[in-house]
Amino acid sequence: MRRKLVVGNWKMNGSLAANAALLEGLKAGIGQDAAADSAVCPPASYLAQCQAALAGAPVAWGAQDVSANAAGAFTGEVAAAMLADLGCKYVIVGHSERRAYHGESSELVAKKTVAALAAGLVPIVCVGETLAEREAEQTFAVVGEQLGAVLNAVGADVARIVVAYEPVWAIGTGKTATPAMAQEVHAQLRAQLTAQNGGGVQILYGGSMKPDNAKELMAQADIDGGLIGGAALKAADFLAIIAAAK
Ligand code: PEP
Repeated sequence: MRRKLVVGNWKMNGSLAANAALLEGLKAGIGQDAAADSAVCPPASYLAQCQAALAGAPVAWGAQDVSANAAGAFTGEVAAAMLADLGCKYVIVGHSERRAYHGESSELVAKKTVAALAAGLVPIVCVGETLAEREAEQTFAVVGEQLGAVLNAVGADVARIVVAYEPVWAIGTGKTATPAMAQEVHAQLRAQLTAQNGGGVQILYGGSMKPDNAKELMAQADIDGGLIGGAALKAADFLAIIAAAK
């Protein structure tokens, strides 16, 4: 049985004061025997704040992106080793917003995944189709290519990654894939992972997951948790999603 994992992607939101309140709320509500593992991914500028606030708490933290390069003349980038220095356990790679707004290719996402693994981080590899791709019946081809590029690059390290299926049309839109739609894609991703000895990899669903739909989504055979955007910014909602993993 794969343990469930719920990760909050704060995106470019927060402030020292707002984060402090959110983190206190999480710590007060989570308890030591939570139904799922959990983590928060703040903007990089607040990772040190999370490290200080969450020390000893059963909530991990991670980054939203990482450089593919180890060090040097890459202005504005943050290396995987620096994230590890800040106590990060996870790093999101290939989020659709990075693919869409920063032109990240599957090849670059694969390089970032390898860089994260080399620093001992757990990369959360995001894949997902746009609405146009779904309507053109390209969903399986698109997510298969996105995951395939990463699998080719990581080889035997496949067991050290987490995958997140995030249909682009469901992110921040309030439109959620039905549990059956999500499960159908997760099953394909599971088969692709299993073919490379990665059958035990956690596959998260992301895209308008909220307290009221989380239980049904996470009850699906191949949905091992959630990558949560908007609902991760309210402690009560994020805690309710973690509790729904039971
Ligand atoms: C995300 O940004 O990864 C996400 C799933 O966002 P939301 O939950 O707001 O749709």
